[in-house]
Amino acid sequence: MLLEGKVAIVTGGTRGIGLAVVKKFLDNGASVILTGSRQATVDKAMAELTEYGDRVMGMCPDLCDAAQVADLVETAVKKYGKLDIMVNNAGISARDSLYEYDPDNFDKILDVNLKSVFIGCQAAARVMKVQGGGVIINTSSMVSIYGQPAGCGYPATKFAVNGMTKSLARELGRDHIRVNAVAPGVTRTDMVAALPKEIVERISAPIPLGRVGEPEEVADAFLFLASDMASYVTGEMLSVDGAAQT
Ligand code: NAD
Repeated sequence: MLLEGKVAIVTGGTRGIGLAVVKKFLDNGASVILTGSRQATVDKAMAELTEYGDRVMGMCPDLCDAAQVADLVETAVKKYGKLDIMVNNAGISARDSLYEYDPDNFDKILDVNLKSVFIGCQAAARVMKVQGGGVIINTSSMVSIYGQPAGCGYPATKFAVNGMTKSLARELGRDHIRVNAVAPGVTRTDMVAALPKEIVERISAPIPLGRVGEPEEVADAFLFLASDMASYVTGEMLSVDGAAQT
């Protein structure tokens, strides 16, 4: 039980990688508040987590609204007494060609994938500083290293998440707040699971480990970084991608 007695928030915790992180943290003794974009998806995730009782709750704040995110953090403190771990995981992807890329969609991905991370880091750090420390983990991506051939807004946000992670590790180290990122490769979330077997095989072929990753494998990286096993690790981007990026 690596997180016994710890309190965590996981944004985008209703499905995919985020839900796997929520389960991993709960199984390791933490109390967790998960967030989703809609009450219906929060309710669906909560229905899968009834065995954990009061140790888990769900909310759906607007992650780009600083007051709502401050309220999310305040709820963790009121309900569970503190906030040890903030996981800024919510995100959307993009496949638009540059030639047709609607600038409004570019604004949207900046908001959901980047501004929300800034606001989440700020709200969490304010409380963690007073508490004497904490851990922030942001979800990056393997495309934060090499980019991708369409939907440039997505890698642009993930490069920025890496920059924010490294910078905040430097800024917040003196307050005993560690800041790291996990950079998943292609992971078997709903979207990948819905693809025909042949397409998943085609995606898997160039990956040196020969397969896509499982959400639980990505969640293990979050568990490591959240735990005291990573007590001297900050400013790192931990790739969990089967060496796909190389
Ligand atoms: P998903 O689509 O399965 O889940 C996304 C989560 O984010 C959901 O809980 C959803 O409610 C939340 N969310 C989406 N838009 C939101 C909004 N506007 N406001 C609040 N919450 C919102 O996603 P996933 O594949 O599990 O991805 C999770 C993270 O991992 C993302 O940051 C994504 O960029 C990153 N990632 C995923 C993969 C992959 O292969 N799945 C690879 C690399 C990185």
